[in-house]
Amino acid sequence: MKIAVLKETLAGERRVSATPETVKKFVALGAEVAVEQGAGETASIADADYAAAGASVGARAATLKGAGIVLGVQGPDPAGLKGMADGGWLVAGLNPFGERARVDQYAALGVEALAMEFMPRITRAQSMDILSSQANLSGYKAVLDAAAEYGRAFPMMMTAAGTVSAAKCFVMGVGVAGLQAIATARRLGAQVSATDVRSATKEQIQSLGAKPIFVENVAGIEGEGSGGYATEMSPEYQKAQAELVSGHIARQDIVITTALIPGRPAPRLISDAQVATMRPGSVIVDLAVEQGGNVEGAVAGQVIERHGVKIVGHRNVPSRLAADASALFARNLYNFLSAFWDKEQGRPVLDAEIGDAVRLTRDGKVVNERLLG
Ligand code: NAD
Repeated sequence: MKIAVLKETLAGERRVSATPETVKKFVALGAEVAVEQGAGETASIADADYAAAGASVGARAATLKGAGIVLGVQGPDPAGLKGMADGGWLVAGLNPFGERARVDQYAALGVEALAMEFMPRITRAQSMDILSSQANLSGYKAVLDAAAEYGRAFPMMMTAAGTVSAAKCFVMGVGVAGLQAIATARRLGAQVSATDVRSATKEQIQSLGAKPIFVENVAGIEGEGSGGYATEMSPEYQKAQAELVSGHIARQDIVITTALIPGRPAPRLISDAQVATMRPGSVIVDLAVEQGGNVEGAVAGQVIERHGVKIVGHRNVPSRLAADASALFARNLYNFLSAFWDKEQGRPVLDAEIGDAVRLTRDGKVVNERLLG
């Protein structure tokens, strides 16, 4: 089995889908690994390091030739996949809802496209979950990005010249990214509060030493929610949440928003009028900006200023920590493929529970229920 590792082509994508560590492990499984020249450069991995781990390093055509599995961080342009084996697997973050037309093109090419963001949220798949591994780093980086834009300090400091007060930080959406944002802001010395629609997060917020701010008069989502995912909330809940946020946000210096609903636009959590109530110099980081944004006025790829408040909308935040993000992403892919490796066949053979969840295309057709349904 030949595994090809492509150099990412999307603007701003600095990550890579395999590291020398995972190359070595694939080779130990009996696979042949080919890495496209320069694939690891932006994640601080030299071609020589891949070669030392046992990969061949070469141009794209040679890398793809006869590959039964192609690895990527993001879905590659279908036109650039010529040469891979018939029915070969494409294993990457394929953004299936956002890039629906491209999924059809993968099908037409005869590629079996496996979307890693469709990994089911079951215990045995945790180590294969790219959404979690990347969201964790995003939550951390969001707080550092906020700190960098903020013209004041995060921790309380008592100095001979007087006291600097601690920043107040509010985290909206307490999934993987939000939990890491809370922990990071706490480590920097901020006073942290947080909110979510799922009641199970209340205890998690408290256990990190932050204050839960929750809608009390309208029921949210009991417990974890299905698969840990939120759904769109009722108009009644949204109204109660808006009132709660209005009362809280004016007293905050830093707001980090991370709220997402799978397959839907991100919920709008902060209006322009609410931004206007914050004191000048405050900073909002919208991690959902590429999914439509939690914050009115946020612009993907830009840091803008509204009413004296900076609204940070960086794209592809995990890529801003490319070395660590790649290391975790690469391990997710290795954990996935190795868990299903069939020694006799010398290739992975998926089971129905995980295979049917991640498989988008097969035998020239789109086969995934979430795309067909
Ligand atoms: P996510 O990225 O889909 O959403 C981020 C957060 O935003 C979620 O906590 C969600 O409840 C929240 N949110 C959505 N709409 C909101 C709104 N209107 N207002 C406020 N908050 C809103 O979620 P995630 O980070 O991927 O994970 C969520 C949960 O799933 C976590 O509890 C996590 O532990 C669990 N999880 C389990 C597994 C597994 O078992 N394999 C893997 C990953 C995540």
